[in-house]
Amino acid sequence: MQIKNEKFDILVQRFGDRIEIDKDLSQYFTLKLHIIADYFFEAKSVEDWREIMSVVDEYDIPYLIIGGGSNIAIFQQRISRLVIQNRFVQKSVEHETEDYIDLKISSGYSMSRLVKETIELGYSGFEYHQGLPGTLGGAIYMNSKWTRPLSYVSDPLLIATVMDQDGATRKETREYFDFSYDYSVLQNTGEIFIDGVFRLMKHDVLDLRKRSEEALLYRKNTQPFGVSTGGCFFQNISEKEREKHNLPTGSAGYLIDSAGLKGKIIGGFQVSEKHANFIVNIGDGTHEDLSELINVVKRTVKEKFDVDLKEEVRII
Ligand SMILES: Cc1cc2nc3c(=O)[nH]c(=O)nc-3n(C[C@H](O)[C@H](O)[C@H](O)COP(=O)(O)OP(=O)(O)OC[C@H]3O[C@@H](n4cnc5c(N)ncnc54)[C@H](O)[C@@H]3O)c2cc1C
Repeated sequence: MQIKNEKFDILVQRFGDRIEIDKDLSQYFTLKLHIIADYFFEAKSVEDWREIMSVVDEYDIPYLIIGGGSNIAIFQQRISRLVIQNRFVQKSVEHETEDYIDLKISSGYSMSRLVKETIELGYSGFEYHQGLPGTLGGAIYMNSKWTRPLSYVSDPLLIATVMDQDGATRKETREYFDFSYDYSVLQNTGEIFIDGVFRLMKHDVLDLRKRSEEALLYRKNTQPFGVSTGGCFFQNISEKEREKHNLPTGSAGYLIDSAGLKGKIIGGFQVSEKHANFIVNIGDGTHEDLSELINVVKRTVKEKFDVDLKEEVRII
């Protein structure tokens, strides 16, 4: 049972049964860990976001924001915070010409739905992200990408609504996000990406379908597919580090594979046989199993290559 905390009572007073208590989150994270949240809330609109954030700010309530939960590993059985899941799903046309369309898309939109819908409407910009799990908000926060060809979800972003931790919103242009490898400024500021206007070029539907099918096929051929995983667990190393250690590639998967760890199992977690940077829940893996396997991977790679692997997945 959760620890009684008066701070949280105010949430129940303000939001009634929209605040769920002792919420089982197993289905909310693609790593499928058994986790209970003390308190849980679904934010379905910008007003929901404004209200919940102003309350957590006023009463100093600890919280965790989740989108599709495809890039988060939680190393505890219970989260003593308010977990806010982004369910803000909206799409509208801001502006349209013969060549392009500016779509305003909210952050809770699922990437798979967005990719499919924009392809079928003949709008280019998201087609290479076929198979990317999660929400648009998570993809902006993580600066999610596809590498063949290099294409970021954030590429078509023109202007965004961001929310401060007290619920106040403002507009920011793409430059504000300071996007780079696995990075957006939101990781430093703790602000929330609420929605964005994305410029998508009008393009032949058949060609868009072809691009997305090729990306999906490559994904299926090289990564474990349809399994419980958090995607690539570690970041690739920088070019500078690769040169320093005289390595043929900066790929974290290559380092883990060359350290002999492909297929390594601890409890219910395994280093994928197909792609060594994917950690897969093959049974009823616990957060202890995951934590131990991660430590073994980091330690072995350090011993073999003197490289410190850094997690790409957000660790809570
Ligand atoms: C099978 C698989 C394949 C994957 N393939 C790729 C890939 O090809 N390329 C790639 O880059 N990644 C990949 N990933 C990683 C992951 O899917 C992406 O990073 C994804 O964009 C995360 O979105 P999410 O909604 O699930 O974020 P979550 O995991 O829910 O959250 C990730 C972080 O973002 C924060 N966050 C979420 N929404 C918001 C918001 N609106 N405002 C502010 N912060 C927010 C959360 O607090 C958390 O810190 C893959 C993962 C899996 C499981």
